[in-house]
Formats: sequence, structure tokens, C-alpha cells
Amino acid sequence: MVRVRFAPSPTGHLHVGGARTALFNWLFARKKSGKFVLRIEDTDLERSSQEMSFEILNALRWLRLEWDEGPFYQSKRLHLYRRMAERLVEEGKAYYCYCTKEEIEQRREASGKGRAWKYDRRCLHLTEEERKKFEEEGRPKAIRFLVPEGITEFEDLILGKVSVKNQDIEDFVLLKSDGYPTYHLSVVVDDHLMKISHVIRGADHIYNTPKQILLYRALGWEPPLFAHLPLILGPDRKKLSKRHGETSVLAFREKGITSLAMVNFLAQLSWSPGEDRDFYTMEELVERFSLERVKKSNPVFDLDKLAWLNSKIISSMESEDLWEEVLPFLKGEIRKRAEEKREWVLKVLNLIKERSRDLREVGEKLERYLVRDFQYKEDALKKHWKPGAKEGLRRLLEEYRALEPFNAEGAERALRSLAEKMGRKAASFIHPLRVALLGERVSPPIFDVVEVLGKDEVLLRIERALKELPD
Ligand code: GLU
Repeated sequence: MVRVRFAPSPTGHLHVGGARTALFNWLFARKKSGKFVLRIEDTDLERSSQEMSFEILNALRWLRLEWDEGPFYQSKRLHLYRRMAERLVEEGKAYYCYCTKEEIEQRREASGKGRAWKYDRRCLHLTEEERKKFEEEGRPKAIRFLVPEGITEFEDLILGKVSVKNQDIEDFVLLKSDGYPTYHLSVVVDDHLMKISHVIRGADHIYNTPKQILLYRALGWEPPLFAHLPLILGPDRKKLSKRHGETSVLAFREKGITSLAMVNFLAQLSWSPGEDRDFYTMEELVERFSLERVKKSNPVFDLDKLAWLNSKIISSMESEDLWEEVLPFLKGEIRKRAEEKREWVLKVLNLIKERSRDLREVGEKLERYLVRDFQYKEDALKKHWKPGAKEGLRRLLEEYRALEPFNAEGAERALRSLAEKMGRKAASFIHPLRVALLGERVSPPIFDVVEVLGKDEVLLRIERALKELPD
């Protein structure tokens, strides 16, 4: 049975890399009819916050990556980690270390090796007296893992064989002197107890894996399989970071990115179904997903691609789905009005979803349909409000007053025959009409707009333009 997990540390927002990890775990679980476990790794008290945990859960919900078990909070499971660390001490596979940070730093400096210095096992070789003395002094003690000799290897499901000499691994701390576990201990204990079959995570963890495999063996447990996802790079080909701009997933939601666009973007960061299609539904992604198709090369984070996907997805969405996504972008009174006229708004959405970059833009466009006293846009006036515009609209208003039934076809016919009568081009009516109805330079096909607004509203909007706009 496939069981995977997403195990974020709630020390910051869920960023793009973390979200991709969550997505790949979720896709793999769904594809294999397995389970997707959510575990919050909040053992670093100072850097973790409950607020961030909630935010991460929100981001996962927004991406529709629902979990089957959890969230489990490591801060509630401390006794388990302590027990395992003590067990390893009893079995001679770990030892108490009384060295203080300062002492360790001093020895590191004296060695001249800097960061290459490894813990010198001083506490492994303490005499009984020395140990007793430390205990009597009440010195805080940590538990360090006794790294055995040899070579540790594993076959990464994406990156291939990884091999590390154990002599390059220091006796790392399992349990800190304050009683809190280090990441290596808690991750191994939990992955085992939660019966995780595959650990899928970012490649920044690849050199943690040999340490963890050593721990599994020391505890007498079978390690899971590992798959490390290649690091995401910024456009300058350096590791993606804040320098490259916004990387928090929820910030993209605020910018009007749809969750499906985000998911497709994240999926395509390291994976390709090998088909010539722009995007997939969640179900289609699940159907096609496999770890074999995850690419080894480092993907580049390309915001233009995300924007392009988003626009494509918005224009292909059913109005009902778009409605759900746009609603949060409408404020106060406007939102209320939209909710009251839901059926009508669905028709409007059908018109405006083409050529919209993001949900914010859809919201702004929609607002122009919902309120009559919108602002005429400067660029629209400059381009389309020419001398003669008013005269034409005045005549068109007469025609439209008399028009029955009032629909797109009739409105177009009336406009064209008026243009002919006045010896003018139809465009010299259409553009000012667009300005009068929506105040914008571009819009959906204008006669569709006329029909969806309806007779009363069209007449009122033309009257307003005639009153407020210059000759
Ligand atoms: N809490 C770790 C992180 O957020 C999890 C790493 C792992 O998946 O093992 O990086």
C-alpha cells in the first residue's frame, strides 16, 4: 500500500517548492490509490507558529490537495522521539553528549578546519567519573547518534544512485539538550510509525537521506523508498528564492491566479505527461502521473508561463466554476449585488472570461456590468470618443428606444442600418457605444454586451454618456 506524506515546517509561508512537493505526493497517492498523510513538523519552537500551520493548510485546501490523515503535529509526539533516542543509547548506538555550544565552537576553531570539522566524539569516550561529575553539575545533555563505519547507499527513484562514506558524516544530534528532537530523529520515527512507503521531497534533502537511512537501520526498521525532486531555479538559474519575487503560493491566489493554473504550473515544473496539451484537470493529472516521468533537470520558474496558463484556464472555465473563484475578488456591495443576480452574472462571466489575464481582472470587468456609474477609462476616451461620437449615439439611442425585441441581432441590424442612413462607418458607432456601455477600449463582442445588459440598462448608459462626456 502506497503511503506518502507532506511534512512542512510551519516556519514560513507555503512557497512554490513546498507546494510542488505536496502536489507530487498527492498525485502519487491518488494515482496509486494510496494515502496522503499531512504532518506538521513544528519541533523548532522558536521558528514555528500556529498561524503558519493554518496558512499552510489553507494553501493546500486552495490547491485542492486534500489529505487522508492528519494533520499530525510533531510537537504533540515528543515522547515518542525521546523514547527512541533513549533506546538507541541503551543499545550503544547513540550516546549522551554534555558538550556546550561554546566548547564545540572553541574546538572547531582550534582545529582550523572550520565547517569541515566534525564532532570529535569527546563524550563517547568519557570516563565514568567524568560522566558522574557532569551529571552532578546538572549539565544539560544531548543525545548523539554513533555513526557506524562503512558506506551508505540508496537508489533514488528520480536522481539515481547516491553513495556517501560514513566517515564524512558526523555523529549528529538526535535529541537536543532541551529535550526536543532534531529533524533527523523525528522524521525517521514518524515516517516509520506512519508507515510511509515513499518519501518524496525536495533535492535539498538528498544529503540528509543517508543519515536517516543509518537511523532506520540502527532502529531495526526498513527504510522507505526515496524520490528527491530537482531544485527549482529562478530565471537567472540560481536557486529560487525571495530575490526572484513572490514565491508564496497564497500570494498568487491574491493576484488572481486560479488554483488549477497553479497546480498545472507546479506539475509542469518537473514533470511532463509527454502530450501536446496546455493544461489538465486534477483528474487528468492523476491519470497521467508517474514518478518515471519526473525530470532530473532543474526546472526554471517562469512567471510568464503561469500568467499564460492562467488566462487559458480562465477562458475555458465553466461560468459556475469561474463564479466560485471570482466571488472573493468582489467587494462589499458589489459582491452582494452579484450574489443577488447570480444567474445573470453567469451569463456575463461567459462573455468576459475570454482574454482575461487573472481573476482580479475578471472581477474588475464584472464590476462594470454591475454598476452604472463606473469610471470611463482615459485610454478609451482618447481612442474612441471623437467628434461626432455623441451625435451618432444620440441617433442610436432613438433607434434602440424603438427596438423590439431587444437582442444582439436586432441591435446590430439597427446600428448598421443607421450607419448606412447617415453615410458613416459602423465602427464610428460601435466604438463610442462600447465607451458608453462599459467605459473601456476593448470588450467582448459589443452586441452580446448590449443583449446581456438589456434594454433599460443600455438606454440608461447611453444617456449617462451623452450627459457626462464631452462633445
Ligand atoms: N519539515 C521538512 C521540511 O519542511 C520536511 C522534510 C522531509 O520531507 O523530510 O523541509
